[in-house]
Amino acid sequence: MEKNTSLEKLRRIDRECCLLARSASLLHWDLETYLPAQGVEERSEQLALLESLCHERFTSTETGRLLDELGSSADNPRGDEKLPDLERDFLRRTRMDYDRKKKLPLDFVAAAAKAEGLSQAAWVEAKTNNNFAAFLPHLETMIDFARRQSLYWGFEGRVYDGLLDIYEPNMGVSEIASVFTPLRERLSALLKKIASKPEPDFSFLNSGFDAQTQAKFNLELMKYLEFNTQRGRLDVSAHPFTTTLGSNDVRITTRYLPDNFLSSIFSTIHECGHAFYELDIPEELHVTCLADGASMGVHESQSRLWENVIGRSLPFWEGLFPVLKKCVPDRFDSVKAEDLYRAVNLAKPSLIRVEADEVSYSLHIILRFELEQGLFSGAIKASDLPSLWRTKMKEYLGIVPETDTQGVLQDVHWSHGSFGYFPSYALGNLYGLQFFRKLKEDIPDFDNILLKGKFSPIHEWLRDNIHKWGRRLSPGELLKKVTGEELSVDPFLKYIEEKYTAIYRI
Ligand code: ZN
Repeated sequence: MEKNTSLEKLRRIDRECCLLARSASLLHWDLETYLPAQGVEERSEQLALLESLCHERFTSTETGRLLDELGSSADNPRGDEKLPDLERDFLRRTRMDYDRKKKLPLDFVAAAAKAEGLSQAAWVEAKTNNNFAAFLPHLETMIDFARRQSLYWGFEGRVYDGLLDIYEPNMGVSEIASVFTPLRERLSALLKKIASKPEPDFSFLNSGFDAQTQAKFNLELMKYLEFNTQRGRLDVSAHPFTTTLGSNDVRITTRYLPDNFLSSIFSTIHECGHAFYELDIPEELHVTCLADGASMGVHESQSRLWENVIGRSLPFWEGLFPVLKKCVPDRFDSVKAEDLYRAVNLAKPSLIRVEADEVSYSLHIILRFELEQGLFSGAIKASDLPSLWRTKMKEYLGIVPETDTQGVLQDVHWSHGSFGYFPSYALGNLYGLQFFRKLKEDIPDFDNILLKGKFSPIHEWLRDNIHKWGRRLSPGELLKKVTGEELSVDPFLKYIEEKYTAIYRI
């Protein structure tokens, strides 16, 4: 009885914190979609207030006392073994979050939240005007907050490990470098072979698609993928993203570039992959700290599985082509599904990460990983980033951006202070292919499903094997449960090498 009361009290605190966090997410979503430019200053203050309220509520001595009463400690985070498994998983997460958050002083949390809003707005302007110098002071502030956060958590001497751990628990610099090294070697070798082959013609895709036409098709595409539009919506932002505002309200965004129709299409598919994960969280986990993905890498495995393994396959385009032709009449009369398939799989070094092909994509990530490592070891100054960016682009991809807008300013992450996030994308590719191998074993008529555009067996498999766990398992535990394996680069590299060897007839 006593235990139940403690559990109920702890669950109430958790619920309140979730509700506060999602209210803040709504303000963030608005900041990145519709907020008028002059509303930024006050919005940053609103966000800082919500963040502080949430922090104060969660890190109160009451939370610590309740965790203790339920037998949860640093050594035994799952607490009392007589409790049901779900409750013990809840205790483990809460204990880990609590031990971490209580190390951050309240004024630090509020100041970081306020700086983040201003920094993000400054980044949008700096990117629009190709003005890195205007963003630099904000970037330096965000680097400083990130460094201090990692130090509060006790990562002296290995600050970047502390930041990586936020997004991918237990994956530090050396673990990540050990998978990135073979990735870099084999993907660079494959890119070189592809460069010697003739480039497919994709001119039918890169001009004259106005925002209205693209918006119409992207909305159809979202429904085609079986996104329930009663439980979410699609909007436009500078950088596509997904955010969960409620258990039945998951927002995604895309962007419409007049000379690049594929950019909006693949952003929409990618963000749908994230949204499916969030929307599949079972009711028993709703509005709790367990209502999230296992890690950012696992979240990215879902978005990149939909975007690439499904969205860049021939049967998928054979199924989707009639929908595209209906939305955009006359433009594709002389084009075959096979031409589209080759066009969406063009492998060629390019400047922008989110538009990179599957082969060169991970090289963009490795570049960012190395720069972040340098920033937090002290080897690199923020002011050196534009020139180092160009040097590394030349080295890894053989091309150099002419502007910072197309270089160091292209991604939103650093403006948010999200250092250590980028490796999740490349890890997501690895998890994604490991999961996919199992999915294909269980669903042998996978290609036929894509051809027909009836995706429910895939949705069900992902829900029953991955999504239903929410944040109950660590990424390693989830991977083991689904595939029986540890993290490996092999399935991803095998998939990439086989696919592109066939497309380019190497
Ligand atoms: Zn993503």
